[in-house]
Amino acid sequence: MEKFSIKDLGVKIGLEIHQQLATNKKLFCNCTPTESDEYTIKFQRKLRASKSELGEFDPAALFESAKSKTIMYYANPQSSCLVEQDEEPPHELDNDARKIALIIASILKANIFDEIYPMRKTVIDGSNTTGFQRTMLISQGGFYKVGETKIGIQSICLEEDAAKILDDEESVRKYGLERLGVPLVEIATEPFEVELDQVKKIALSLGRILRSTKKVRRGLGSIRQDVNISIKESDVVIEVKGVQQLEQLEKVVEYEAKRQQGLLLISKKLKESNWMYNDKFDKNDITELFSKCKSKIIQNAIKQNQKIFVVSFKNLIGIFGYSPYDGIRLGKEIAELVRFFGIGGIFHSDELPNYGVENSDIIYLKKDLKIDDDDAFLILAASEEKIHTVINQIILRIEYIKNKGIPIDTRLATQTGETKFLRPRPGAARMYPETDIPPIIITKKELEDIQKDIPKSWDESIKELQTKYKINPQLAEQIFDSKYIELFENIVERTTINPTFVASVLCSSITNLERNGLDSNLLKNEDVVRSFELLEDKKIAKESIEMIFENIMSGKSKTTDEALKNASIEAVDKEELEKIIENIVEKNHEIIRNQKERAMGPLMGIVMRELRGKASGEMINKLLLKNIKNKLESI
Ligand SMILES: [Zn+2]
Repeated sequence: MEKFSIKDLGVKIGLEIHQQLATNKKLFCNCTPTESDEYTIKFQRKLRASKSELGEFDPAALFESAKSKTIMYYANPQSSCLVEQDEEPPHELDNDARKIALIIASILKANIFDEIYPMRKTVIDGSNTTGFQRTMLISQGGFYKVGETKIGIQSICLEEDAAKILDDEESVRKYGLERLGVPLVEIATEPFEVELDQVKKIALSLGRILRSTKKVRRGLGSIRQDVNISIKESDVVIEVKGVQQLEQLEKVVEYEAKRQQGLLLISKKLKESNWMYNDKFDKNDITELFSKCKSKIIQNAIKQNQKIFVVSFKNLIGIFGYSPYDGIRLGKEIAELVRFFGIGGIFHSDELPNYGVENSDIIYLKKDLKIDDDDAFLILAASEEKIHTVINQIILRIEYIKNKGIPIDTRLATQTGETKFLRPRPGAARMYPETDIPPIIITKKELEDIQKDIPKSWDESIKELQTKYKINPQLAEQIFDSKYIELFENIVERTTINPTFVASVLCSSITNLERNGLDSNLLKNEDVVRSFELLEDKKIAKESIEMIFENIMSGKSKTTDEALKNASIEAVDKEELEKIIENIVEKNHEIIRNQKERAMGPLMGIVMRELRGKASGEMINKLLLKNIKNKLESI
């Protein structure tokens, strides 16, 4: 195994940020973009390779159609209409979305076109009911600065978001339509070459520029990052989709660069071997031969009437297990590819005997099919109609790696910071004109008006938050980067509650509850505001806010007032409070007699169990201390 150092690889990175815009309706219809999982409408489509109006087939579309899936769509009338169902042509372009996109392009100093042409981009995974996504290139060029580094912008598009995937099984894929058609901007940077630890900062800065408009959606799924990665030894750019967290970004870049360099080394080995595939001799049905194999995967496949095939590779023993760098192997690449076709079971010669496939099975197999000790082989199981397509794709892929090096894929970032095969990269035939929508004319006047709406920069906004509300810089950054900034300002404007308290409840208390598995989506803005209003009117104690949120976020209550009743959180007045504490002190005079002042600890626990959320901890503490002292004097 070779030692891996990313420094020598000349890694080039390009970011593609997809940010949902905070508009009241969708891009081409009047539906409200709200998340919901209650669906009253259900319909299905067969996934088909759609031929673009320009002719040529898209290779990615062909590849996907080989999987032949049924697509189920789930919808509800609040968040979708006949436009999303592809039963009605798109309406006019949403004005707010248009304006926000132009503001973003202006901040990034991009060259905005005077005429914008809506296009259809072929989508092959079923995430659009129409088979395409509507997109508009609104500008080219532009830049932003991260410290001294200037990051170039390639293009900015305004487009429709895709449907939300609900489930993906072997023959059925399910989507919800609530997200389909939500406006988003797609910003692609020019490729840049920086130290690995700078990548996160560069992505973060772009996200902050977008948030400075205060017109973009926040929270999980509202911003998605794709990253394009290439190394200097090849001219292949690999697109990695779905980087969820900026923390993943660095790892993903490192892994993908390592994988690309590793594939070049695997390619070299394949070339040296002079291997050529022979479809007549190298592929064999071994369903009969393996009928007694003890492997559970093989037996399950036979039970499901599947075929077991072996594919042999002349003189290539060791190739599937060869690991040029840690975690990079041809066997892993092939396993990812077959998983794409919904096939789980694939074994290669370098990992056998294993998984229930015994040495005797292998000896038997080699003898029967004249596979030499120098040959590698793959064993796989799939349905009869699928198995030849899959084997074909495996061979094509290995031949590609041998002859050309790195296959041009679209890949997906994993939770652990690796990348895995998603599908082949779509070809150039992907875009064609959208004839249902006329070109959009941007006038000089409109661009001049936009200049007046250019927001303060992120840095200025943070400084303003600090001075206006007297909160510390860290909290100002946290609240500004969170989805609660508007809510925070709203609460602080309408109450006299200390802004630092409001900000920390919105930033840390809610996050803590989320970490405990509770759902912040259940907590509506009006309930947050209502909770703080109750505090303002002294109807509840500070401590009750978190209890109310906990009650709502756990699904026990739907509103603040309901939570108030359910968790019996209502402030008790001082008189009543004193009575309760006196009572508890009276009942526990033994503890006080024995432990003197130290009785405070155990008694505080008892009191808090009774009074949690009904009075401030500070007040309870004071009264309890006073009562214990009184008691001690009287003993
Ligand atoms: Zn609609």
